[in-house]
Amino acid sequence: MTSTAPASRIVLDRRYATDLPELAVPWRAEPAPEPELLVLNEELAAELGLDAGWLRSADGIALLTGGAVPEGAAPVAQVYAGHQFGGWSPRLGDGRALLLGELTDPAGRVRDLHLKGSGRTPLARGGDGLAAVGPMLREYVVSEAMHALRVPTTRSLAVVATGRPVQRETVLPGAVLARVASSHLRVGTFQYARATGEVSLLRRLADHAIARHYPEAAEAEHPYLALYAAVVAAQAELLARWTALGFVHGVMNTDNMTLSGETIDYGPCAFLDAHDPRRVFSSIDTGGRYAFGNQPAAAEWNLARLAEAMLPLLADDESAAVALATEQLATFRPLLAAASTARSREQLGLVSASVTDATVAALAARLDELMTAGHVDHTGFFRALGRAARGDREPARSLVLDLAAVDAWLDDWTVLSPEADVMDRTNPVYVPRNHLVEEALSAAVAGDLAPLRQLMTAVTSPYDERPGLERYAEAGPAEFDSAYQTFCGT
Ligand code: AMP
Ligand code: MG
Repeated sequence: MTSTAPASRIVLDRRYATDLPELAVPWRAEPAPEPELLVLNEELAAELGLDAGWLRSADGIALLTGGAVPEGAAPVAQVYAGHQFGGWSPRLGDGRALLLGELTDPAGRVRDLHLKGSGRTPLARGGDGLAAVGPMLREYVVSEAMHALRVPTTRSLAVVATGRPVQRETVLPGAVLARVASSHLRVGTFQYARATGEVSLLRRLADHAIARHYPEAAEAEHPYLALYAAVVAAQAELLARWTALGFVHGVMNTDNMTLSGETIDYGPCAFLDAHDPRRVFSSIDTGGRYAFGNQPAAAEWNLARLAEAMLPLLADDESAAVALATEQLATFRPLLAAASTARSREQLGLVSASVTDATVAALAARLDELMTAGHVDHTGFFRALGRAARGDREPARSLVLDLAAVDAWLDDWTVLSPEADVMDRTNPVYVPRNHLVEEALSAAVAGDLAPLRQLMTAVTSPYDERPGLERYAEAGPAEFDSAYQTFCGT
């Protein structure tokens, strides 16, 4: 059984477990037979006020695997529901994860410390409660890259190999990911609370979400409507950032969408090489529900489900509640359009107020068409535009087949005096490209962590072009890209 960790090193609160006992199943991790620390995020540890040296010690590793629980902490599996690919699942929850508790960092921010892959919980349904090294390292790499790309996201503190084998299509080495988030409240958490029929529980959940994420909503005339409005705005901002970067989440079920607006649950995610709104990577997304270009619509659909769940909090009369929710949800598209234009301004270096939003949006739309038609490398092209802004068009032109179209676009854009410095701070050189991620994960699973470390070096300083990292800036081989699939069996 698990033991108690030296209390002095880390203090975890049990706010979620105390506020929402109906949504929390007290539980402990399955101890790891032979834990081995694979990666530790020292920068994040420092941000959290945790000592990296201690985290590397046996006691630290016990914390990171759930083998020991800090004094006073009350680890729980969180209960939630969700729509998965549109189908309703009334009871999901952490089947292989635990919320260890909340940690207050030196800056005063409250963060969840959570483990993924820590063994079966009462919510595991048919699952084995485990996670394999490859997918946990994948979440580590991609979430930390997203953070470096200024996208709101959960963070990854460490991946520890457990020494326990995991049966998937083949037997794989097991691992636990230690994850940090501003919370793990999901649209599916509200759906679950609503489905219990206990409005008082739903209200407590909403109060908890307000206190944790949107304290200003408590001061609003209608705090619950203000909470909903804040979530709609946060998701509009998030989706604009995903789109600008060519990020495909892959499994935008309502249980994988946060109230905080952080990206969560990196499973079959990927960055586009060839730009294509229809691109799907997940092997199970056969209908293209979560294709690159459908993500904003999927987010809007999820926000409608959140509104349904919150209806009893919005007004006593259901039709009045529906009217309020509908009016608020209608702000998603204009907010998304505004956020997208703001992203395009930076990407295209058109930050001067003398260039109108309409001009920027029209140029971005033309570019999207051109890039789709030509299967243009998303990351490479935007980065090359910075060179074009400095007068060297060739790197951008070389990525496009229809030279007449790209030249016409470049002419119309150049007359607006794009600012190359802004572009270089916005358009990354390095993203975790699929072929590089697969290469690094295969090596890591085989015991060689060097490629993973090198990839992390590239993607955690994504705007800073460095000699020796040239291959990290290049698109994968076209045959690889077109056949690439990610798998949900994570
Ligand atoms: P996901 O789509 O990966 O976010 O997971 C959907 C649901 O399945 C969540 O409730 C997870 O806790 C659960 N789940 C996924 N994999 C496993 C597993 N190996 N064992 C138990 N539960 C799992
Ligand atoms: Mg999930």
